[in-house]
Amino acid sequence: MQVIVPISPDQLGGQSAVVASGFRVMAERGRAVIIEFYQKPHGIEWFGGFELLYCQRQHDPQECKVIRKASDEERKLFRIPLWIQGDEVPQCCGRPMNFVGQIDDDRLCGERPPDAKLWWHDAASFYVFTCSQCLECKAIAQQF
Ligand SMILES: [Zn+2]
Repeated sequence: MQVIVPISPDQLGGQSAVVASGFRVMAERGRAVIIEFYQKPHGIEWFGGFELLYCQRQHDPQECKVIRKASDEERKLFRIPLWIQGDEVPQCCGRPMNFVGQIDDDRLCGERPPDAKLWWHDAASFYVFTCSQCLECKAIAQQF
């Protein structure tokens, strides 16, 4: 796939860079594609590496165009985990499990149970996955 990256998000029809590598597709639905660049295209300054970008598939389905940065709501809608550490997608039935959602512990009670031997720091995230073949569920936790 090829990605068209406008030099400026305010001028989507203006000058753009066309790249075929340095990014990965995080999710897609219909014509909408969410990508991130692990290697930012040369001369593009309006987003950073590993920032989620909302793209639209063009007339040629092998081509998509970056429209803007993806919002937090879109990240949830497209089921993209926001990992604290590296990706840790569990497997079930021989395939990657589907991300359901995440709980960020700093929005919950950070107080540890009184008899806890170990507990998570205040900035931990819990990621819930399910299997689309057998409905098995798994949770992964990460912390800073
Ligand atoms: Zn399974």
